[in-house]
Amino acid sequence: MSTFPLAAGRDREAVRHELVRRTVRVLGRTDLPGHLVRVTVGGDELAGFASVGPADHVKVFLPTSGGVVARDYTPSEYRPVGASSGPELDLDFVVHGEEGPASAWALTAAPGDEVSFGGPRGSRLAPSGYRNALVIADPSGLPALRRWVRAFAGVVPVHALLFGGAEAVGYLDDAELAAATPQVLAAEHDLVEVVASQDLDDDSFVFAAGEATALVPVRRHLRERLPKEHLSLHGYWRRGDATFDHHSPLDPSDPD
Ligand SMILES: Cc1cc2nc3c(=O)[nH]c(=O)nc-3n(C[C@H](O)[C@H](O)[C@H](O)COP(=O)(O)OP(=O)(O)OC[C@H]3O[C@@H](n4cnc5c(N)ncnc54)[C@H](O)[C@@H]3O)c2cc1C
Repeated sequence: MSTFPLAAGRDREAVRHELVRRTVRVLGRTDLPGHLVRVTVGGDELAGFASVGPADHVKVFLPTSGGVVARDYTPSEYRPVGASSGPELDLDFVVHGEEGPASAWALTAAPGDEVSFGGPRGSRLAPSGYRNALVIADPSGLPALRRWVRAFAGVVPVHALLFGGAEAVGYLDDAELAAATPQVLAAEHDLVEVVASQDLDDDSFVFAAGEATALVPVRRHLRERLPKEHLSLHGYWRRGDATFDHHSPLDPSDPD
């Protein structure tokens, strides 16, 4: 059964949250498949944390030599009372080297380290009333993909496409693998071709998150097949671009 509140229909209700900046401490760090690292944080300031939309994000603040920078991360899992007997939040970071401040921080995060984050500022509920759903992600979008799989469980049949790192499929547990029937793309697979072969019609919903350039042709293809309200497609990062703004249009040639 879905572990998320669902919208009454296809319109995805927006839920606002009070914007709170929280300072927390690292409780633990676990290596996950697919070059992901789970950093579990905890502390009194986590109390009251709420994240009811599958694609919610928080802004993690990271000190660098040039000042504090913010990076967006999906609240992978929140436990009001975790193993530490207090509130806990898992954040799952793709570690892609030391150039990026967030990746560098996650590589060395150790119990006791302090970190601050803000948000989520708002949530959009998962829709109901669709015949099926397709969720597409590279490793950066896996925490969100997993939340979508959990949100749709028992409500809407969901099929997952994973690109940009086959080993990342090990990120999903057995129940999630069974629910998401994942298809893992090898490097030689063409993402658009695979998306084109999917069972999609006017009663389908598609979420995608990952490297922005790879998703542009996917968006072009899907815009020809589905009403835009059925699509939730997001560039989470762009290769070679440390200043990527995920609010900028995914496809600048078609910003609508
Ligand atoms: C709404 C939202 C939710 C997100 N949730 C998550 C999440 O849960 N987990 C997660 O890992 N990421 C997530 N991301 C993506 C993450 O915010 C970016 O990958 C971010 O750029 C990482 O910051 P950085 O400081 O490590 O690297 P940056 O300083 O931003 O970039 C430095 C260099 O690294 C490259 N780079 C950035 N990200 C990646 C990557 N994933 N793989 C390979 N190279 C990369 C850039 O192209 C650049 O060349 C999310 C993004 C958004 C918009």
